[in-house]
Amino acid sequence: MMMLNCLAIKNKMSRHVPERSCIVCSSKRDKRYLQRMVRLPEGGVVADVAGGMPGRGAYLCGSEDCWDLAVSGDRVARALRLNRNTRLAEQIRAARDVFCL
Ligand SMILES: [Zn+2]
Repeated sequence: MMMLNCLAIKNKMSRHVPERSCIVCSSKRDKRYLQRMVRLPEGGVVADVAGGMPGRGAYLCGSEDCWDLAVSGDRVARALRLNRNTRLAEQIRAARDVFCL
């Protein structure tokens, strides 16, 4: 019975905290602690530092390893349904610089 109560309370609380998954390692966290890139209407991505930009977003947990994999473009392209190309890779690298100064 105690167990059930705890779960109920946990569910109630987590409703107020939107969670997202890192597109590389899939770890879930409160989206405020993730780094977001957003797809631009003309294609490509840009760092969404404030987290409020409209559009489809891809989240990264912020670990070095995840960024290292993300800059290849594969994961981001898949998450945002973009074509993987040199320009996309450059934009992801630029986003990384914004977040990882
Ligand atoms: Zn990650």
